[in-house]
Amino acid sequence: MLITAPVLLKPNERMQMMEIELDEPGFGEVRVKMVATGVCHSCLHAYDGSHTGIPMPIVLGDEGSGIVDAVGEGCNNLKPGDHVIISWAPDCGACKYCALGFPSLCLNTPPIGKMAGGTTRFHHQGQDVYHYGPATYGPYIIVPEAGAVWVRPDFPLEVAALIGCSVTTGFGAVVNSAALRAGQSVAIFGCGGVGLNAVQGAVATGAYPIIGVDVLDSKLELAREFGATHTINPTKQDLFEEVMRLTGHGVDATIIAVGATNAMKQGLDILAKQGVEVVLGLPGTGQTFPVDPALLMSGERRIVGSRYGSSNPMVEFPKMVELAMAGKLKIEELVTKRYDLDEADEAFRALAAGEQARGLIVF
Ligand SMILES: [Zn+2]
Ligand SMILES: [Zn+2]
Repeated sequence: MLITAPVLLKPNERMQMMEIELDEPGFGEVRVKMVATGVCHSCLHAYDGSHTGIPMPIVLGDEGSGIVDAVGEGCNNLKPGDHVIISWAPDCGACKYCALGFPSLCLNTPPIGKMAGGTTRFHHQGQDVYHYGPATYGPYIIVPEAGAVWVRPDFPLEVAALIGCSVTTGFGAVVNSAALRAGQSVAIFGCGGVGLNAVQGAVATGAYPIIGVDVLDSKLELAREFGATHTINPTKQDLFEEVMRLTGHGVDATIIAVGATNAMKQGLDILAKQGVEVVLGLPGTGQTFPVDPALLMSGERRIVGSRYGSSNPMVEFPKMVELAMAGKLKIEELVTKRYDLDEADEAFRALAAGEQARGLIVF
């Protein structure tokens, strides 16, 4: 099949709309006709070159939804016509972490840019074109069957795309990674696509106060709309003083949904005893932040990483859909702007400028 997709040839250059060949689905693989894809910060890292080691040419996109179009041999669960949300962490089904229900920690994750087995499904003039995870900017994509999660057909498939990364990552960071309990306090750094879903996760757990932290007032306004009870703009207010005023002795959890190492440092400084800092945002390759061990030891504070919200997409995606259908999770409200596929560069510019909660490319 021939498809036309935006291809990144070099970081910091506009993507080229190119006609590329798509293989037929192989054993255990499905072809998905994409309906929508979210514009995620991790792809922006590849696009602007702040993450190194990404093979090119590459089709980006790690958050999407679509309709199963064809299935290869050996597929047992999906059939053409099924509505699916794409997971960027397909279960290898064999390793320890997949067995534990954490496919994002799979020991058999293929090298970046490739499918399991080290090959690609996209080609151009005899040359491989790489996949950024599932490469959801392709109008048709090939993924392992475990990378396409069935969802009920009466849920709006377009916005379901966001469940594939930002919703599950943000919500899960609070509910799974921080394991926040009712009445505990939380500060969420970065109130964009992922952070707003962390706010929603905090609301779902019954946390209080839920403090949104961002350098943009427009993002703080959004945080309040999604359920933050308080907001702090650290460029205008003293973050530490304000948190102590609200909580007395610090917050029980900080969720760092921004790839800024200074936020990671600040998030640690405002933690209460036995508090946990959850690191979600990814800074540029090689950036670090200083940690005072006394702060960890004296108050039994913890720093944990969170990947895909410590979730199992096969379980969590249908759950997110149910919560959204019950009115307990806002999804459509996350979409700031819809784009055509050939406007992906503009969507990245707007994301980098902090202009959106989530941009959604609709096929
Ligand atoms: Zn993502
Ligand atoms: Zn595995």
